[in-house]
Amino acid sequence: MYSDLIRTIREVYGDRSGTIPLHVPRMGEAEKRAVAKVIDSGFVSSVGPEVDEFERRIAAYCGARHAVAISNGTSALHVALLVAGVEPGDLVIVPSLSFVATANAVSYCGARPVFLDVDRVTLGLDPEAVRRFLQSETQVSDRGPIHRATGAPVAACVPMHAFGFPMDIHGLLEVCDERGIPVIEDAAESLGSYVGNRHTGTFGKAGVLSFNGNKLITGGNGGAILTDDPDVALEAKHLTTTAKLAHRYEYAHDRVGFNYRLPNLNAAFLLAQMDRLDEFLQDKRAIAETYAQELKDYRLFREREGTTANHWLSVLIADDRQSRDAILHATHEAGILTRPVWQPLHTLPMYDHDIRDGLEQTAYLADRIVNLPGTPRV
Ligand SMILES: *Cc1c(COP(=O)(O)O)cnc(C)c1O
Repeated sequence: MYSDLIRTIREVYGDRSGTIPLHVPRMGEAEKRAVAKVIDSGFVSSVGPEVDEFERRIAAYCGARHAVAISNGTSALHVALLVAGVEPGDLVIVPSLSFVATANAVSYCGARPVFLDVDRVTLGLDPEAVRRFLQSETQVSDRGPIHRATGAPVAACVPMHAFGFPMDIHGLLEVCDERGIPVIEDAAESLGSYVGNRHTGTFGKAGVLSFNGNKLITGGNGGAILTDDPDVALEAKHLTTTAKLAHRYEYAHDRVGFNYRLPNLNAAFLLAQMDRLDEFLQDKRAIAETYAQELKDYRLFREREGTTANHWLSVLIADDRQSRDAILHATHEAGILTRPVWQPLHTLPMYDHDIRDGLEQTAYLADRIVNLPGTPRV
């Protein structure tokens, strides 16, 4: 079963035997040289020129005015939500079809997630689901929408661009802007993805990137907040560097800050990876095109008109749960490490009591998505 699928994946990787991972980092001499250089310089930890340089380069790449380098994507989400004003007891709208970090970041703020449905056409949060929830479950106040049943303010919304396929950010911003709800984009998976000619993560109040080992580029670990708002950038930098007040030798802090800095060692690694980002993107597009051409008998999720996807992970949509499981089983038996989508967050034990809508499309997609290997071959 599925020998055509298995053959195609093996051909993509020019490999008839051995395990094919889902997505692993590509690195070599350039990364070694970059890391060796900062070791020689002595600046491996919390300060160094590479952090500043990385912030400049990633901001410029994404077309954001500011970027703040952070230890990882989850911490970046946490701080972006705090800067957006999320407080204990608040509600934050998130898609249930996301990696757990999206909801965990909400929990770290002492707030609770509201799990709303995704759109099958985009894989991302459905602006109509958000509109319906706000219309039927909330009332307007001068502090923004208040959830009627609990009295909790809806303090933010965190859409996510799943597997690098851009969601309908314009539609969502229209709904959220109307009600004064700040949007924080979880662009952890969508470095190199655009809506029109604008990079994902640059539409809302802030956007978040991840440089974890399985993402497009990595620093071993790492994350960033993108924003056009200088106050958001300053506040994010302050909160992620223990809220230390600038002084030549005094140690004073004006808030409970976090040690969420990106070490200079990781920034140096990331700078070397950035040199290869466009090459990675090109090859990932080629891989996705081969899958599309060779797997005509399967339903593959395609880049939507008006958007550019980074093709981080290709998405196969199986006919039903049973065929999804059969594909996962057959590929794993053949040493190809395909993966199902995350278990919807509202089904996890720590989130199974939170507010949600019907989540029909989430259930549909959760039963069917299979991610195909996508490591760049360059
Ligand atoms: C990877 C990821 C994160 C978290 O990033 P880390 O750097 O691993 O902390 C958050 N959200 C989504 C959707 C992700 O895929």
